[in-house]
Amino acid sequence: MPNRPTFLTDLSLKDAEGLMRSFNESAWRAKPLLAWVYQKRAGSFDDMTDLPKLLREKLSAAVTFSSVAELEVQESRDGTLKALLELWDGRSIEAAAIPSFKGQYTVCVSSQVGCAIGCPFCASGKYGYERNLGIAEICDQVLFFAERLGGDAAISNIVFMGIGEPLVNYLDVLLASERLNAPWGFGLGARNITISTAGYVPGIEKLSKEKLQLGLAVSLHAADNALRNRLVPLNRKYSLDKLIPACDAYVKASGRRVTFEYALFAGINDSLEQARQLAYLLRELNCHINLIAANPTIGCDWQSPTSEIIEAFKAELMRLNKAVTLRKSFGRDIKAACGQLKNNRR
Ligand code: SAH
Repeated sequence: MPNRPTFLTDLSLKDAEGLMRSFNESAWRAKPLLAWVYQKRAGSFDDMTDLPKLLREKLSAAVTFSSVAELEVQESRDGTLKALLELWDGRSIEAAAIPSFKGQYTVCVSSQVGCAIGCPFCASGKYGYERNLGIAEICDQVLFFAERLGGDAAISNIVFMGIGEPLVNYLDVLLASERLNAPWGFGLGARNITISTAGYVPGIEKLSKEKLQLGLAVSLHAADNALRNRLVPLNRKYSLDKLIPACDAYVKASGRRVTFEYALFAGINDSLEQARQLAYLLRELNCHINLIAANPTIGCDWQSPTSEIIEAFKAELMRLNKAVTLRKSFGRDIKAACGQLKNNRR
């Protein structure tokens, strides 16, 4: 197995300045280098035409341009792109770019190869956990789509809703978010970067103490512990009586409301009684509920409820004064929707 190379987006501004000094170059050259990477959508060192050729040669000897290589890109009828990307060690991940409006996209990134949580309805954990992604591997998923989509497309949001549990890979996810937010980096507002968690309470607590005001989404899916233990096995360790107060603390510390994801599975968590239980559980929290009609995944025969049942569930939450939306599912035809991303070609 080769050693892990250093990738361009592993570098902080300070690292890049240090690298320039090590080449006997002025540190001020770091910013134009990083601008090529994050803002001008360079596809290789050769694209950086205003950097001297000798410097580009030194750079390419010291750092590897990108940590992800395209294996396959599929496009859905609705415009969603799904990319299968190869990593330096031969492993692979998937990421998606979902169109919103007027040429804007939300990029959905993976944070791990595989996932250890093991939610029975999600394809990402089907083959277990392999490893965490590094800072560069996270940033480069975004830059891959930025380059691929071209100059007219804007990436308006980044969501950690791909493969893996981002809060378990805390440091790399946070540092990647910082690079994606930094003015010298990708420059996207922290409010437009959302971390989605299956409910890893120590991670939520840590995130409350960060200065970066990232969005927090929690995959709830059930409002009672017995059912949630089945749907999101992490609940056996961090049950609702720990999770909800941690979310409340995040709201207070960040001043931002939390989003709760609730995927609806027919006959499992879609009754009106369960809607009322959900409203009651979240009664004192400043939050938003995002309902998702279950997407089909291999190895799980749970189905989405009918649209009448989904609408009735939503109406019950609204009647009880909860802010709720039904999330439109994108990319189902190419298996790019929630819970359908996988970590390899199996
Ligand atoms: N591990 C993190 C990040 C993954 S986000 C988390 O759990 O939040 C992916 C989202 O898709 C999660 O809310 C997940 O529960 C949801 N999901 C997984 N499988 C799904 C399916 N078959 N249908 C609908 N949503 C699903």
